[in-house]
Amino acid sequence: MSTTRTALIIGGGVAGPVAATALQMAGIEAAVYEAYPGPAYNIGSTLGFAANGLAALDVIGAGDALRRVALPMPTMAMAFGHKTVEMPGLTGIEPLQIIDRSDLHQVLHDHAVAAGIRFEYGKRLVRVEEHPDGVTAHFADGTSATADILIGADGIKSTVRTLIDPNAPAADYTGMLGFGAYTESAFDVPPETMYFTFGKKAYYLYSAMPDGRVGWGVNLPYKQYLSTAEARRVPNEEWLRILLDTYGEDSPGGDFVRDTKPENLVCVGGLHIMPPVPTWYRGRMVLVGDSVHAPSNSTGQGASQAIESAVQLARCLRDFNDPATAFAAYERIRRPRVERIAARGAKINHTKTLGPVMRRMMPLVMPLFAKTSKFEEIMVREQSYTIDWAAPVNERAELTRA
Ligand SMILES: Cc1cc2nc3c(=O)[nH]c(=O)nc-3n(C[C@H](O)[C@H](O)[C@H](O)COP(=O)(O)OP(=O)(O)OC[C@H]3O[C@@H](n4cnc5c(N)ncnc54)[C@H](O)[C@@H]3O)c2cc1C
Repeated sequence: MSTTRTALIIGGGVAGPVAATALQMAGIEAAVYEAYPGPAYNIGSTLGFAANGLAALDVIGAGDALRRVALPMPTMAMAFGHKTVEMPGLTGIEPLQIIDRSDLHQVLHDHAVAAGIRFEYGKRLVRVEEHPDGVTAHFADGTSATADILIGADGIKSTVRTLIDPNAPAADYTGMLGFGAYTESAFDVPPETMYFTFGKKAYYLYSAMPDGRVGWGVNLPYKQYLSTAEARRVPNEEWLRILLDTYGEDSPGGDFVRDTKPENLVCVGGLHIMPPVPTWYRGRMVLVGDSVHAPSNSTGQGASQAIESAVQLARCLRDFNDPATAFAAYERIRRPRVERIAARGAKINHTKTLGPVMRRMMPLVMPLFAKTSKFEEIMVREQSYTIDWAAPVNERAELTRA
């Protein structure tokens, strides 16, 4: 029987609200402390949401709320210049869902609030104090809060990560900046298909929206690292000029850039990848989500992994007596899975720009590769992962499914 009764959750992005709701289900009272002054609505751009993420959301009862606002993409296609190769479907796996990032935040926030979770905004964690029987979080506004445990769901630039281990690694820059936009384009994009496209100079992806617009995103190779704030200081008109230099000769990539109004371009800034984090927890503090395992965005798994970890952490806290035992079990059942996915992502990242020969070869090689490689097996394993909330945590069983 758990002795943990209360939890402070730092960060109200994806992992935070899910962890809070799952902890509530486990009988642990949790409150979310978010640095931003309010909920993150209207933050633009889309996100691909995988079947395993949906299954984890089903555990806390939020899966259908997401399905109602998301757009299923039953078909995946890879495009190399004018050649398009449809990828084999994954048997028995729910299709990828495309969701507006703001909608995802709203679904998770509203679901948590309906479950009775308290959110406090304008609360930037700056330091913690640990006591024998609890932990106190101190915020930049001079206030503080105390509970049995503290969960760092504070994203890729986590403060909690360095409070747990001052020598913890920081996120690496992938060498690419992220941009996204919804665009009214004359280019006819078939519905229900997600296109992953290798342009002449760089990679991009796109799909048709139900209202006739196209949702597209790019990973722009860019030597200099820019944070989101730094990248947003550059006017969008300038970014569109740079994007046109990179994608101008591509079809339909060039059309999308030309058709995008500056006010509709969302600049994400430098894309990160988190190297393995040696220390996931210390004392009464533990990490969840991007703060401890952010795979590159090319895996399409960041949010889903954050959600799975949040649910599994709550389950471990429910089933084990003291936080240290629960945190150790949580790390053992989550680390192998998230590191395997991160390693897959790191490999894909390098192939995001292809030379001219590879671009010609890929349409021929790709179908064969998809058949003979373990591609389908890997994807099915990744996306068929489910969490049995009712069952007590059994490490061996968890690892077999991971
Ligand atoms: C361009 C791009 C595309 C992506 N595409 C996909 C995709 O297609 N599919 C997918 O699954 N994932 C994708 N991801 C990854 C996904 O967005 C993340 O994995 C996910 O948001 C992680 O959730 P999180 O809650 O751990 O962190 P976040 O969502 O980053 O939330 C962290 C929260 O903590 C708050 N915070 C930070 N510091 C403090 C502090 N000191 N005190 C209090 N609060 C704090 C932040 O304000 C933020 O609200 C993409 C990411 C990027 C950048």
